[in-house]
Amino acid sequence: MPRTHARCQFVVLLGPPGSGKGTQAGRLSAELGLPAISTGDLLRRECRSGSALGRQVQSVLDSGQLVGDDLMNQVVANRLLERDCHAGCILDGYPRTVAQARFLDTLLTRSQKSKPIVFEFGIPAEELVARLSRRRVCSECGSIFSIGQESDSAKTVCERDGSPLVQRSDDHPETIRERLRQHERNAAELVGYYRNQDYHRICATRPPEHVSDELLNTLAANWSTPALTRAAAVASRAHLRA
Ligand code: ADP
Repeated sequence: MPRTHARCQFVVLLGPPGSGKGTQAGRLSAELGLPAISTGDLLRRECRSGSALGRQVQSVLDSGQLVGDDLMNQVVANRLLERDCHAGCILDGYPRTVAQARFLDTLLTRSQKSKPIVFEFGIPAEELVARLSRRRVCSECGSIFSIGQESDSAKTVCERDGSPLVQRSDDHPETIRERLRQHERNAAELVGYYRNQDYHRICATRPPEHVSDELLNTLAANWSTPALTRAAAVASRAHLRA
């Protein structure tokens, strides 16, 4: 029997585009000291590099379809080999198909790592198109903002580093609808794959702080590391004060 690495902590965030996976991955990363890996960001980086592969990937992204499993699996396998992932990571946007989920399990088993804890973000489809159309990202650090409120519509630079905020090329209604269709196509099967594992469904319509609290509390209950228990306690206190 392979010996699993008790201190490895892999978190998988499942959910439709716009359900808040990126925001929560950033928060969990800060709390847990584990890297947040967004497969969308990895792909966009490849596109910006101007490589032949990047040009190919860009046209897939702009169509709202999914990149092929083999390519995606290879990109993730390479990223997980990097040193900062040895103790675990937060996976945002991967796996999106059962073939990817199987590949991830094989990868973790081969390197004697424990299976991931999986969170599915539940949110009604109507809310997603509106959320994604309002989304802006920092062109430099990738922070995510919503220009939902009237007062925000003039928001054009990042609160953190002052760089310009941009709209992602795939955050337009036509492409958003295709991304949602792609999600629908794979979601049920993927949840079916994980349902009997360490799987938790989260209500993602609530404010981001409430979602973070639930994630941290569930992780604290499942992993019971002192740092996590502290983080969950701090989150709950902050939540009570708000
Ligand atoms: P979102 O979750 O909002 O769609 P992402 O930034 O996670 O945004 O992904 C953007 C695009 O990158 C997707 O529409 C898809 O084309 C591609 N992509 C990201 N992750 C995967 C994956 N695991 N498998 C296949 N394609 C992916």
